[in-house]
Amino acid sequence: MRHVIIIGSGPAGYTAAIYAARANLEPLVVASSVEAGGELMNTTEVENFPGFPEGIQGPDLMAKMQAQAERFGAEVLYDDVVSLELDGPVKKVTLGSGKVHEAASIIYATGSAYRKLGLEGEERLSGRGVSWCATCDGFFFRERTIAVVGGGDSAMEEANFLTKFASKVYVIHRKDSLRASKIMQERAFANPKIEFIWNSEVADILGDEAVNGLRLRSTVDGSERDLEIEGLFVAIGNDPRTHLVHDKLELTSQGTIWVDGRSSRTSVEGVFAAGDVIDPTYRQAITAAGSGTVAALDVEHFLAGRGEAGEPAVADSPIEGLPDAAVV
Ligand code: NDP
Repeated sequence: MRHVIIIGSGPAGYTAAIYAARANLEPLVVASSVEAGGELMNTTEVENFPGFPEGIQGPDLMAKMQAQAERFGAEVLYDDVVSLELDGPVKKVTLGSGKVHEAASIIYATGSAYRKLGLEGEERLSGRGVSWCATCDGFFFRERTIAVVGGGDSAMEEANFLTKFASKVYVIHRKDSLRASKIMQERAFANPKIEFIWNSEVADILGDEAVNGLRLRSTVDGSERDLEIEGLFVAIGNDPRTHLVHDKLELTSQGTIWVDGRSSRTSVEGVFAAGDVIDPTYRQAITAAGSGTVAALDVEHFLAGRGEAGEPAVADSPIEGLPDAAVV
């Protein structure tokens, strides 16, 4: 039986893994089969993660976090959790491969999933002009006219990025002001390829085989009009990924996993949660990483209470020029 299994491989999961591995807890990280690395895998330049004054690409940052966790002995599995048994002292994690892993504790750090508009055409035309990931699909829209829906940082980031490819990018927002941070807003306002369509929502996505337009509805007077575009990027936020624990862990009214105060302790003993899945407000890579730290320390404390905590880890490859030493 493992000391701890970490479910999720975003900043929260990998930071928890770094701390747990350095505490000799030999964590197993279930990283997911297709979404390993979490949301930052879909991001381009990350400019606000401390320690990278020139910025760093999202996937590079995640690769570094993974390497750091593995360096101290974390084991990473590219598989998906299909079910969980969380009650009692032995937690059971069943993977897509059919394998069942057991642990004394769990850190649940599954992050959040792209929110959908809930329109019929959205699913039907997904991959045929509808996308949730500019970095994945932007390339397909060279010299095309496209739209981004949303008014937050994600929408601004996507819109700016997409102007590298598209000839024109409409940003459709249901209000007359943005939720995005000032710097992201200013960048978008200054971009000559971006045009804002305010007080409008997408009522329908048009096209049979591929997207060829949108039906927009005014949020002021309900009037409708069609807009010709060939691609729609949906950037309206995320929802916490709680589907595996809906009936097992207490949730908050906002749909995140309930944790006890500033800790990571959930409503079930031995189960801890971290990152976007507990955070309806801040949802930054750095806050998720901090939250992963809290979870690993809580697990250490929990296991110590059961007489199971390990010794401090020693790095395999110490910082160049320094003698081998217990890393503190
Ligand atoms: P947000 O929740 O911040 O914004 C979502 C936007 O989508 C809002 O403008 C919201 O409108 C709109 N929206 C929500 N639902 C619908 C709907 N059904 N139809 C139409 N519009 C809708 O999500 P983000 O993904 O933008 O950002 C999440 C977090 O990640 C934030 O904390 C953000 O700061 C951070 N982030 C930071 C980045 C960076 O700093 N580089 C990059 C990307 C994200 P309304 O305003 O009316 O509610």
